[in-house]
Amino acid sequence: MQNLIKIFFFLFFSFLIIFQLSNNSTSEYFEYPTEYTDISSSYGYRDIFDSTSFHNGIDFLAPQNSKVFACASGIVVNLGFSNSFGNYIVIKHSNNYYSLYGHLSETFIMNIGDYVNAKEHIANVGPKYLSNGILNGLTTGPHLHFTIYNEDGNTINPKDLLENK
Ligand SMILES: [Zn+2]
Repeated sequence: MQNLIKIFFFLFFSFLIIFQLSNNSTSEYFEYPTEYTDISSSYGYRDIFDSTSFHNGIDFLAPQNSKVFACASGIVVNLGFSNSFGNYIVIKHSNNYYSLYGHLSETFIMNIGDYVNAKEHIANVGPKYLSNGILNGLTTGPHLHFTIYNEDGNTINPKDLLENK
């Protein structure tokens, strides 16, 4: 009988610990990556530059030089330039989600490997054209592009994870 009680308590506390760990996941919500929460282009199919394409994130109407914040704590795993995102930065979060911030200014204030807290200032919104005259990604003007990849590497609608959605 005593053994049964021991087993019961072992299982009970194991369950509690597992529940606690899974509850720590940051996938439940993310913070807005900018104080400018108006969305100029949402997630999904859209017409851009005379063709229909899939927009894998959301665009915030954030002015040039405005601050970009980490949507959750994590580690900077990538930054650079791409033809679609312009200057961008990628943060990996504890639940294996990734967030990407695009059309940023040329001067990065973070380095690969940096740990960032939720709401930490990680970048600034960039201009339409970079100093070398190249378009700062697929953009018609300064704004913040924000993509979230889930643990399978698929993009999801960030709106579903943002606080106060
Ligand atoms: Zn975009």
